[in-house]
Amino acid sequence: MLIDLRSDTVTQPTQTMRTAMANATVGDDVYGDDPTVNQLERLAAELLGKEAALFVPSGTFGNQLAIMTHTQRGNEVLVGDDCHILMHEVGAAAVLSGVQIRTFPVLNDGVDVEKLALMLRGEDIHFPDTGLICMENAQSSGKTVSLANMAAVYSLAQSQNIPIHIDGARIFNAALALGVDAKKIAAQGDSVNVCLSKGLCAPVGSLLLGTEKFIKKARKNRKLMGGGLRQAGILAAAGIISLTEMISRLEEDHRNARYLATRLEEIDSCSVLRNRLDINMVFFTLPESVITESALIEGLLKKNIKISGTENGEYRFVTNHGVNSDDIDWVIESMKTLVSHYS
Ligand SMILES: *Cc1c(COP(=O)(O)O)cnc(C)c1O
Repeated sequence: MLIDLRSDTVTQPTQTMRTAMANATVGDDVYGDDPTVNQLERLAAELLGKEAALFVPSGTFGNQLAIMTHTQRGNEVLVGDDCHILMHEVGAAAVLSGVQIRTFPVLNDGVDVEKLALMLRGEDIHFPDTGLICMENAQSSGKTVSLANMAAVYSLAQSQNIPIHIDGARIFNAALALGVDAKKIAAQGDSVNVCLSKGLCAPVGSLLLGTEKFIKKARKNRKLMGGGLRQAGILAAAGIISLTEMISRLEEDHRNARYLATRLEEIDSCSVLRNRLDINMVFFTLPESVITESALIEGLLKKNIKISGTENGEYRFVTNHGVNSDDIDWVIESMKTLVSHYS
């Protein structure tokens, strides 16, 4: 069995999901006729305390659809300097929505609201209009943002009539780490995007949520982007299991991440970024003098362990449904062997 630590997107649909998918009642969702998609959207809206939800093919799709729906071409969109929308969505906001992206720093204790306030554009013939602010929780860095910080950003945005979109790809991980209901996080913005296909194990899909009015507009933009799916209930059936049965299992991923972090620290010169260990992602550095990146990747692959290469000099191991504590022991044992044979 392969131990895959590259991401929680590698999770496989469970047997319950496969059965639900095979038996799903479906219709043409572009006509609004798919009862299973409708059920998933209602369930998500209820769970996250928003008026309406829309099933979309991916998290990137949901974020980009939100940007397209909130903004006009030429708007400026403010995003955190390490966020997924900026770093991992192929520059889509420029291509699809014709917006300009500007970044604000996200520090250890969240967004500096005073700095952010200075970045909002006033009236000037030279300036683009600030069309949207994007928050992310949990963040791609592995950290969560406190509710208080999110609320401060939201009240600033509301005072200037600027909408907030929350990239909540891992909102249920964030809720677990913060010890709050996910509704409370979703309440700190006008729209929110939620991934079903990460720790929640659905094979495909995300949800974009917001007001009825916003979702109606987003539904048309989804069609424009080629995301009007037909008998999508086959996919939504798995998503329903994600929301009803899989949220509580995230606790196991968080526990395993902390266990993995502790065991990684047994390896000489391996330095875990403890201040970013909020969810199911463990970031660490391991100097090239101890073992090179390619030697580690190839060596672990021979032991049936898949990892990604470094980004900004950091490794990221992500715990997920396919990784248990015995697997973690095997990963550590394998790493220790590789390191001792390397030098
Ligand atoms: C995974 C992720 C997304 C969306 O990713 P897709 O692979 O397009 O589903 C968006 N934002 C964050 C923070 C993510 O981690």
